[in-house]
Amino acid sequence: MWGTRVQTKAVIAASRATDALRAAHSKGSKSKQSGRLPSGWHFVRIFVAWALILAFIALLGACSGNQSSTSATPTPLPSPSLTPDQRADIVLAEMTQDEKLQLVHGAGGSVTSNTPIPRGAGSWVPGIPRLSIPDLYLADGPVGVGDGVGPATALPSSIASAASWDLNEAYKYGQVIGAELRDYAINANLGGNVNLIGREPRDGRTFETKGEDPILAGKITAAHIRAVQDQYVLGGIKHFALNDQETGRGTADAQIDERGARESDLLAFEIGVKDSNDQSVMCSYNLVNGTYSCENPHLLNEVLKGDWSFPGFVMSDWWATHSTVAAALAGLDQEEPNSAFFGGLGAVVQNGQVPQSRLDNMVHRILRAMFQVGIFDHPQAVQAIDTATDGAVAQEIEEQGAVLLKNAGAQLPLNASTLRSIAVIGSHADVAVLSGGGSAQVSPTGGPALTEGYPCPPCWSEVIWDPSSPLQAIKALASNATVQFNDGTNSAAAASLAASSQVAIVFVSQWTSEGMDLPSLNLTDVIHATPIDQDALVAAVAAANPHTIVVIESGGALVMPWLSSVSAVLEAWYPGQRGGDAIANLLFGAVNPSGKLPITFPASVADLPHPTIATPPDSTTPFPVNYSEGFNVGYKWYDANNIVPLFPFGFGLSYTTFSFANPSLVNNLTLSNPNFQVTFGLTNTGSVAGAEVAQVYLRLPSGTGEPPKRLVGWQKVSLQPGAQQQVTIEVDENDSSHPLSYWDVSSNSWQTAAGDYAVYLGNSSSMASLSLAGTFHVGP
Ligand code: BGC
Repeated sequence: MWGTRVQTKAVIAASRATDALRAAHSKGSKSKQSGRLPSGWHFVRIFVAWALILAFIALLGACSGNQSSTSATPTPLPSPSLTPDQRADIVLAEMTQDEKLQLVHGAGGSVTSNTPIPRGAGSWVPGIPRLSIPDLYLADGPVGVGDGVGPATALPSSIASAASWDLNEAYKYGQVIGAELRDYAINANLGGNVNLIGREPRDGRTFETKGEDPILAGKITAAHIRAVQDQYVLGGIKHFALNDQETGRGTADAQIDERGARESDLLAFEIGVKDSNDQSVMCSYNLVNGTYSCENPHLLNEVLKGDWSFPGFVMSDWWATHSTVAAALAGLDQEEPNSAFFGGLGAVVQNGQVPQSRLDNMVHRILRAMFQVGIFDHPQAVQAIDTATDGAVAQEIEEQGAVLLKNAGAQLPLNASTLRSIAVIGSHADVAVLSGGGSAQVSPTGGPALTEGYPCPPCWSEVIWDPSSPLQAIKALASNATVQFNDGTNSAAAASLAASSQVAIVFVSQWTSEGMDLPSLNLTDVIHATPIDQDALVAAVAAANPHTIVVIESGGALVMPWLSSVSAVLEAWYPGQRGGDAIANLLFGAVNPSGKLPITFPASVADLPHPTIATPPDSTTPFPVNYSEGFNVGYKWYDANNIVPLFPFGFGLSYTTFSFANPSLVNNLTLSNPNFQVTFGLTNTGSVAGAEVAQVYLRLPSGTGEPPKRLVGWQKVSLQPGAQQQVTIEVDENDSSHPLSYWDVSSNSWQTAAGDYAVYLGNSSSMASLSLAGTFHVGP
């Protein structure tokens, strides 16, 4: 979110380079949140201001038809019957050198000039009216429309979308983002954050990501991007690559072996890019194996554009470009948000350091991406966003993605007809739910319920509470109960209310943001000058009431020192602006929880591959972050090291029970379309309708040195009580996820090893919940 100029100066003085740059840029662009609940008049002023801005944009759109103003008749577009590549070539052939140079960098102004960017975008690339090339407006983000674009539907965090394990739900999620961007006449989304944050669960951006498994994360991201691009908005995937911690992100040098990278972080990108026909990739701030990502020929030219045949363009993360010649030759196609380095491209092309063909290729890639997505053929017109429809999707995603972690003695669902008194405690649950900070921040429709300043670090990102009241939603469902609220700032007072109530629902929350990592996985109050000890709060409430339910609003995993003393735990992530209703529906059983963890919850930070986060020596010197765990990310790390986590990847409870019966394996691996199929009967053995996520894991032959198992397929199945369904999960050997293969460094390719494979079926990654579906042999 956008802060104040005054803070900007302080931040630049105090912060690390890239975060200071981000702050400098963001502060100049947008109106400010005051840090207090806006007064009625303040609200009216904001509303009127937005109405005027929208009307002005609409007028511009109507006058210019999405073009920069021009009086000359523009050249007609090449026929839509041609391919995007052919159309791009035709336009390219008409362009002057200056026009080409205009497309390969943002016009966001220099870091210090704070140039306002039209339409509230994060950057823009002015079009070329005489050739009918539209302006490109780029805006965040991964959890809804971000930057200063305007009020938008605050969706639950992306990680909640991943926790649904449902690609149709993920598509709906992306559709909201794409449609709302389009309604604001923004034609490029800086959205698909697929960094494998399970590698560092304290990462402040975990909420923007899709968890720790490359296949789940890649497929969910691809569904988001496909949906965005179906709205004629350029989709994007980021941050390429291995941007897995925020601490020192501008100088962190991720060191990893090639096989480890290909089978973890890079695999998530590969799937995301290929399955969605994604047209833009954002390279990251950090270095990978000694070279900055945005000038890394291995990452950009060899892996992305070479091995994966990526046809679109690479843009830099904001101010992540470090050179002109090296970056251009390595495969960077567009510098964002300004021209600090690519402003000099004309000169280096002229003196031969960068071939003209490379500049032409950059422009070709940008134009073909815009043709591919439909930006030329479907000009945007500003219109009101559909808050009702999009809000309903936000609620549905939360209902599908919240994960029930504990439910001792069938504490949940709550029984509205018998409950007489409920204590609701903590986390502003009377008015709001928490959102994550940074460039992913959405300005929720209706305005924030509450803001709580700019914690430092990251210093530039505001704490915003979305306007959705769990308390009101609980009251609406608990028609026979007295529902009382305690703000949780005083554990003794909270415990006293809990003691006099039949059940206590404690809302705990952990704010995180881009630009910071968490100091630990315990609840840590980074917001208040006098921190609230929420772990102690839960312990006090649980001691006072044996029917204590904890609802967690967090970006990712936590440790839970109080777990054994509470009866139920619901992980609600950042629940989005319909989160209050969704949480109440889940607590009272109007919706049966079906989310499954897309990340492991470790028992302790001591169990992580890196118990201590690597820190930079200063703000400019690259420092090593040694990913010696390689592909052993998340559950693969715990499996390989025989560590029992608090909650395993893939885990989540339901109010009903399911049984898997008669799993069988069909081996079609010798066919021209090689695959294997796991078939089984799934029965809802409980008394309420619900959904189970059947998960298939594969163990590769021991000689490959692979982790004990990997997720290769899954299906979410909804069943009425007593109903049974025959389910088949097919795993295709040639899928973009390379489910049967390992990365062979000697041949530089994916290979399927000869040997014995074992297929497991169940409802989490824990061996205790899996059974052997069968084995097969490959090779002689
Ligand atoms: C973030 C990107 C974001 C960009 C534009 C950067 O600081 O890392 O994820 O898209 O800013 O806001």
